[in-house]
Amino acid sequence: SSAIAKPIYFFDEADGKNRALLGGKGAGLAEMTKLGLPVPPGFIITTDICEKFYEAGKRLPDGLMDEVRKSVRRLESITGKKFGDAKNPLLVSVRSGAPVSMPGMMDTILNLGLNDQTVEGLAAQSGDARFALDAYRRFIQMFGKIVLGADDRQFEKALVGNGINNNSSDEKALRQVIASFRSLCEATGKRFPDDPYKQIELAIDAVFRSWTGKRAVEYRRQYGITPDMANGTAVTVVAMVFGNMGRDSATGVVFTRNPETGEKKLYGDYLVNAQGEDVVSGKANPSHIDQLESEMPQVFGQLSQVCQKLENHFRECQDVEFTVERGRLYILQTRTAKMSAGASVKTSVDMYHEGLINKVEALQRIDPEGLEQILYPRIDSHVKQKPVATGVAASPGAASGIAVFDVAKAEAMGKRGEKVILIREDTKPDDVPAFFQSVGILTTRGGKTSHAAVVARGMGKPCVVGCSQIEIDPEGASFSVAGRVAVSEGQKITIDGSTGRVYTVEVPTVAPEITSEFKEILQWSAEMKAIRIRANADTPESATLARKYGAEGIGLCRTERMFNQHDRIALFTKMVMAETEQEREKALAELERLQKSDFKAIFKEMQGLPVTIRLLDPPLHEFLPKEEDLMMQIFELKSEGGHKAESEMLKREKMLRRVRELSEINPMLGHRGVRVGITFPEIYEMQIRAVCEAAADLTKEGVKVESQIMVPQVATVNELATVRHMFESVKRDAEHRHKIKLKIVFGSMIEVVRSCLVADEIAHVADFLSFGTNDLTQATFSFSREDAEGKFLPFYLEKGVIAVNPFQSIDQKGVGRLMKMTIEMARKVKKDMEIGICGEHGGDPKSIEFCTAIGLDYVSASSHRIPIAILAAAQSAI
Ligand code: ADP
Ligand code: MG
Ligand code: MG
Repeated sequence: SSAIAKPIYFFDEADGKNRALLGGKGAGLAEMTKLGLPVPPGFIITTDICEKFYEAGKRLPDGLMDEVRKSVRRLESITGKKFGDAKNPLLVSVRSGAPVSMPGMMDTILNLGLNDQTVEGLAAQSGDARFALDAYRRFIQMFGKIVLGADDRQFEKALVGNGINNNSSDEKALRQVIASFRSLCEATGKRFPDDPYKQIELAIDAVFRSWTGKRAVEYRRQYGITPDMANGTAVTVVAMVFGNMGRDSATGVVFTRNPETGEKKLYGDYLVNAQGEDVVSGKANPSHIDQLESEMPQVFGQLSQVCQKLENHFRECQDVEFTVERGRLYILQTRTAKMSAGASVKTSVDMYHEGLINKVEALQRIDPEGLEQILYPRIDSHVKQKPVATGVAASPGAASGIAVFDVAKAEAMGKRGEKVILIREDTKPDDVPAFFQSVGILTTRGGKTSHAAVVARGMGKPCVVGCSQIEIDPEGASFSVAGRVAVSEGQKITIDGSTGRVYTVEVPTVAPEITSEFKEILQWSAEMKAIRIRANADTPESATLARKYGAEGIGLCRTERMFNQHDRIALFTKMVMAETEQEREKALAELERLQKSDFKAIFKEMQGLPVTIRLLDPPLHEFLPKEEDLMMQIFELKSEGGHKAESEMLKREKMLRRVRELSEINPMLGHRGVRVGITFPEIYEMQIRAVCEAAADLTKEGVKVESQIMVPQVATVNELATVRHMFESVKRDAEHRHKIKLKIVFGSMIEVVRSCLVADEIAHVADFLSFGTNDLTQATFSFSREDAEGKFLPFYLEKGVIAVNPFQSIDQKGVGRLMKMTIEMARKVKKDMEIGICGEHGGDPKSIEFCTAIGLDYVSASSHRIPIAILAAAQSAI
């Protein structure tokens, strides 16, 4: 480079907006100095120097120490103290601070400048030997640990051995500790430098090194902090101020508003006669900031004013470090406060009303994913309870209930109004009735896409899956962890589907609360978003919830989900098992009656908003018992003997034959969706008729209905045309019988690669299209989702072979390209054709942004995620 960049800036000359150069901490200190807040003087060595340090193979650049010396001299003249002076020593802290906040991940050294001589000067000058010695022992410990690599546990041991605590005033004990600390340093084989300039040089070196320390690297990986976001740490050198100078001194942390609730009131902790990390280290019990008001009223008043100024300036809640030295307040750090989702909603709305920010800024501040915290019950954060095991967090929310291992028992108890948590190795469609009756589901096998996980998410019930630390005993009456019985049936347990944690007691939970601020955020989002949001809802309850949250219709109503109640499964089984035409017709008529009443309830709830109904999708064998289960039952009946058992056994054997007939090698690519609809036309006809009849009844009652029927798994236009033919004739018949016109349109799902390639042909036959991105992703990658997520995808993600899980966020390059192509082809045929997406991607903020960009009319997301989708849609429009 041409000119040599300035390596060091004093707080009063630095540009506090330049976080990239100064790090967050340095920039904040510079900004606060400019605001006239009481910040001790200091200077910043830039992140550029950190880069140079690494370029040179972890060596401080030539000439840097000369600059540091100059800066220290300037600091001396500002403070009137002298670095290394035995009478009036200047002490400093050497602090880390990256452009992106990484709290506690890198190193900071306090009280630098002390040695056996200067400590006596500090003692004489402050008139408090105890204080000076306390500062010294802290310095040796930090320096020893961070720079010399001494074992911190040995220091802690020595402290305890000498009976030292934070308020210790025993001089003799402190001197002893200092002696043993020095020898612990010696034991490292490195020399403890007495020269303060050597001390500061080594400290700067150590802070730069901590940028690539294990903790820091892991943190950046975890939070996706890339080199372009932060390419090193700055080093900030600050004149020390002392919170450990007696009862009129203190150190603390204060949030300008409550970071849990968002309440506009100072929140935080402080400790009298303490320094730096003492407040957060947990070694002492700090006092609540409220108490400062009575203990040091003047300081409290000043601190409140500082907080107000900071908020007015940064227009965000701040998290502030302060120290009181003999009654004088100093501010040592400020940064944007990390808050709970609830607090982030409340403070954003409040700040808008206070005139600090506008609506767009308010919306941009809230993390849509974080809203999950508000939408589901959660474990009370004040409770400190250890989980007995941790599984996969599969469906958010926390629930407590009675542990039940048996499906029938869970269903029965649930119906009696008891709160049960169903615990199984894994689950199957037969178990779904028990899901409805349980408050939560826990399984020991499977991943995020296992049956239990998918069904629980659809219902919005807390669910933990794949909790392999838990072993269910063969009798199914208890589970063990690490070989010891942890819970027996009937005992209370708690699961947290947001974290995967399992507790063997009842843990208090906090109910979700839709606050007025939250409603306001949803309202603003609805005004600003550029795409419609519909819900995936299969039941009237789910439709109600969707409406409450502001969904603009239902984008996916899965008709098979309606069969998931016991009496209905039995009926469906009857239909599948029917031997004669007559038997089948009878079963179908029954089913039609039930479906019709379900559709009526949903249409009524949606009040004329569009409702998209998908015809039957899964293969028929999903509605029959599993082969192994049937064989087991037959075996048991055989050994039981007797007339009744005999006839039961014959029935099961017949079912077993049918199960075997219908079984498939690869059901995902097998006889399902439109393929079933065409080979068993009476099923689709029944479903279409149920929709038409429901719509007709309601229309006559004066209820507005706007319905859409869509066909799953379409690959060829002929498949779609065949079903369309069915649809037209059933609809015509209904219109004729009821003497009305029905407002029902007909469309296709796009979830098979071929359907994308022939989208123009399909567009001629369809009134609308809906991307089923779950299946389309599987089909595009030729990955089965369950196998991918269970086996190789985690490995791919870890190794960076794939950057994002395509089942969570739309793969824009591949699947996205197919989508764009499809939209273009279809709209060439029908210019205004409505095209949307349903499937889990509909609730993913990144995917919503993409769907907005490619011109989709709507995304359809799970009812429970509607607020997340609405906010994400607004954010992608502003
Ligand atoms: P972290 O980034 O881990 O918070 P900091 O650099 O902020 O590390 O410092 C750790 C602690 O030491 C904080 O409590 C801070 O307020 C305190 N501290 C840092 N510099 C000084 C100083 N010059 N005088 C008094 N306390 C300080
Ligand atoms: Mg700090
Ligand atoms: Mg599908």
